[in-house]
Amino acid sequence: MDDPRIPVPQPGQGFPVPETVTSIIDGQPVPARGKRIPVFYPATGRPVSTLIEADAAEVDAAVASARRAFQSSGWAQLSTEKRQQQLLAIHDTILAHADELAFLECLNLGVVMRELRERQIRRAAYNFRFFAEFIGQAKGDVYDQMAGYRSIVVREPVGVAALIAPWNAPTALASMKVAAAIAFGNTCVLKPSEQTPLAIHRFVALLHEAGLPPGVVNLVNGHGGITGEALVAHRDVDLISFTGGTETGRHIMASAGRRLKPCTMELGGKSANIIFASADIERALDAALVGIYSNNGQQCLAGSRILVERRIADDFIGRFAERARRIRIGDPMDDATELGPLASAAHRKRVLDFAETARTEGGRLIAGGAPARMTGDLAEGFFVEPTAVVAQSSRSRVCQDEIFGPFATFLTFDSYEQAIEIANDTTFGLVSYVWSDHLPTVERAGRDLRSGVVWVNTPMVRELRAPFGGYKDSGVGREGGEACQHFYTEVKTITVPTGPVAVRRLGLG
Ligand code: NDP
Repeated sequence: MDDPRIPVPQPGQGFPVPETVTSIIDGQPVPARGKRIPVFYPATGRPVSTLIEADAAEVDAAVASARRAFQSSGWAQLSTEKRQQQLLAIHDTILAHADELAFLECLNLGVVMRELRERQIRRAAYNFRFFAEFIGQAKGDVYDQMAGYRSIVVREPVGVAALIAPWNAPTALASMKVAAAIAFGNTCVLKPSEQTPLAIHRFVALLHEAGLPPGVVNLVNGHGGITGEALVAHRDVDLISFTGGTETGRHIMASAGRRLKPCTMELGGKSANIIFASADIERALDAALVGIYSNNGQQCLAGSRILVERRIADDFIGRFAERARRIRIGDPMDDATELGPLASAAHRKRVLDFAETARTEGGRLIAGGAPARMTGDLAEGFFVEPTAVVAQSSRSRVCQDEIFGPFATFLTFDSYEQAIEIANDTTFGLVSYVWSDHLPTVERAGRDLRSGVVWVNTPMVRELRAPFGGYKDSGVGREGGEACQHFYTEVKTITVPTGPVAVRRLGLG
């Protein structure tokens, strides 16, 4: 890598970084002609590439390409076996380029590269294998209860999908949408966040290197308000899958509703992590730290509201704060780093403003709450100290707003009922975590928590076969094997008599 703008190169990471990132339409990068937007390395705050924003005309070309591919590339009609082969070829190609993708992702996101390489990029590859295996087992339905008739139910691809992904886990989240859309025979246009285009651009190129026909997956880049708006408002888009913030989701769904386009919405979270005194406390402590500080705290699944039973609270919270203060902050390309920078300067300011909010609300700051002071190349990076606050009330803003950074809030409870009441005291409902070795407590909590997923005695673990998505303001619809099949296919009933039918005869005089 000889680009002088990238200041902290590591041995063995000599991957090319594109000077400009453009759309990919019909399998080809388009000429750079739109507005130029700098892409930053969050660890240094310096630009590393330039994004070329797709305007409405370019989005139109991408949708037209997807439509042509849907109608005439043969992708929608491909046999299951051939489609599986293609998906598995993509899986292998992504794995073969895992180091490169992790490097590019790290370069515009700042999440620790080890985590990207070992988890998120592997997961991106696995998404394609998962759907290859799923479509090999998917089945239709037959109804033969009505005498003399058999009705079969088949599923067909819907058409052109608009896929919109956020910046916090760009390739892992976008690849889930792409894999699901194309596995069921659709074509698509993907729009990632304008902050994090680097790995996704390479990922879309790799899909074509793996043999995907041009036009099946198109990429457009740019701001949500320009490129995203043009995509979701496009008349020839048949369905929309969105992952991002709740307010953006509301806006997109309103626009889709006017045109009766089906949507799935994977939105924000403010998830409770409930620690009962009956828990394996050491494990719960490790998991509470991972739950809020991994991925630099920027995850929808973060266990950001930690509720601790009062009789263990002082000890638990004290030890949490001590460990939080010892987390190794640093260069995200260094495997020893535990916490990298936040994704942008604006996001860092937003997170730090919440430390101020906590103080004014009477919260007790027990760790962090300030920019992390770094030296050398990293001095201008967007680093924040791992932060933890003991809040005064569940109603305080730091317990209600999604902060989306390395920022834990603590509340205490005296009874099971109070724990559940606090956990459900939120407009969100994405996931919940419960820690207890007391079986009846775990069983009750699984029933009483109002969230799409409940994880018991474990940090987040995603079972792709099972539905994933949120209650309340955390979303509409689900992702997962069957859930994606339902979303990405139209269902058709074909009724055939099993013998000649007696038809009433009209017009015989
Ligand atoms: P945003 O809602 O700001 O953006 C998400 C995506 O939508 C981006 O690509 C953005 O583009 C685009 N976008 C913004 N406005 C529009 C618009 N009017 N029309 C079409 N597209 C638009 O979210 P963030 O990127 O800030 O992501 C963080 C959020 O995502 C958090 O709330 C988090 O909880 C949620 N999330 C949810 C997950 C889940 O599975 N439930 C998983 C991961 C994150 P651009 O950035 O270029 O403006």
